Amino acid sequence: LSDRLGSVFDRLTKQGALSEADVIAALREVRVALLEADVSLPVARDFIKRVQDKATGAAVTKSITPGQMVVKIVHDELIRVLEGDGPADALKIDNPPAAILMVGLQGSGKTTTTAKLAKRLKDRNNKRVLLASLDTNRPAAMEQLAILAGQIGVDSLPIVKGESAVQIARRAKTQAAMGGYDVLFLDTAGRLHIDEVLMDEVQAVRDIAQPRETLLVVDGLTGQDAVNVAAEFDGKVGISGVVLTRMDGDGRGGAALSMRAVTGKPIRFVGLGEKMDALETFEAGRVAGRILGMGDIVALVEKAQETFEAEQAERMAKRFAKGLFNMNDLKGQLEQMIKMGGMQGLMGMLPGMGKMAKQAEEAGFDDKMLRRQIALINSMTKKERANPDLLAASRKKRIAAGAGLEVSELNRLLKQHKQMAEMMKKMGKGGGMKQAIRQMM
Ligand code: GDP
Ligand code: MG
Repeated sequence: LSDRLGSVFDRLTKQGALSEADVIAALREVRVALLEADVSLPVARDFIKRVQDKATGAAVTKSITPGQMVVKIVHDELIRVLEGDGPADALKIDNPPAAILMVGLQGSGKTTTTAKLAKRLKDRNNKRVLLASLDTNRPAAMEQLAILAGQIGVDSLPIVKGESAVQIARRAKTQAAMGGYDVLFLDTAGRLHIDEVLMDEVQAVRDIAQPRETLLVVDGLTGQDAVNVAAEFDGKVGISGVVLTRMDGDGRGGAALSMRAVTGKPIRFVGLGEKMDALETFEAGRVAGRILGMGDIVALVEKAQETFEAEQAERMAKRFAKGLFNMNDLKGQLEQMIKMGGMQGLMGMLPGMGKMAKQAEEAGFDDKMLRRQIALINSMTKKERANPDLLAASRKKRIAAGAGLEVSELNRLLKQHKQMAEMMKKMGKGGGMKQAIRQMM
């Protein structure tokens, strides 16, 4: 899949700018990627449409290829949607005992997540936690929670046979208040599918428990169904957040986008295994990369740029400090300037060059001039570039003619080179050179 996306983006890379047709072609592949990641169809469609509007309106930034631009816009938008108003807050557990209601379909990981969260609050926040299972359908489910409570060293509500979920909730509240607990987790029963009975029960429990948080636990491998589950639970019970489980598996986690888009509620935690500490706070960047299936590529591009720039800066700084700043170096700098958005942008970045920038502006420095200067350097021989002092008057004439320019312009370039070489040498001795060069790149 990445390959298929890659080839589309490769094709874009070779073109000058993003046309609407290019964006549409690329986004067609992104749409496939989203669906393969199990993002629900309406959510995927909506997302694509929004990105298309953004991408088509956006200019292609200098020094970024069009292909990278599309990846970046898609990636950024995914993160924006997944993240919402900001990073997930900690659980609201002031005013003890604070009830936390765990809801979701059967097998989604409610009981496991309840214990994981309890352990986290106990270990990190030093909270006294009480766990109560309201799963009256399966006696084994109650046992399961009690066993997990024992494992992590927190209390669980004693099991009383024959009680309804509402009765258990009531008893749990009383017990939590009397026992001086900080947090009460209510682990509700799930069904294989959403039904009226389940919703009625959860609503009744909610009204008794008055939870500070209602967390919807969803299997991260859930596909097209995710939208229905999220909409139903949020509509009928009202949720404050989502926990995505089984994100340790092969699934690409598209449910995250569906949940987020449909409920607007934040994804708070991610389950990464069966063990009690396999729970992490939600990180939009990681999940975005996974949904898109290009997280590695984005990271790779960033890393490659970093490494390349660091190495180049190091190499150049060493040369310049030794007073080695020849015409090839100058050519590299000129090309860099064009990429950076011209003389103005570059000078503004270098310390103490504000005045020079002004002079440059007055002297009519612009991209065209930079390109003329590059043409002049290109007309020189290898030897001349390495040591421009060698240039005799006759050679100067030939070089200028070769670039279609006046000799005076070549003389100006040579003078500029001398000044820069001098400055580079000074900066190299003063240190901070590497930094200045990296800024330029
Ligand atoms: P419930 O019916 O919603 O209470 O679901 P359970 O908590 O009983 O979990 C069902 C199964 O999923 C159990 O075998 C858990 O160990 C497993 N499970 C829960 N969360 C995760 C997770 O994040 N990763 C993996 N790999 N398994 C999980
Ligand atoms: Mg359970």
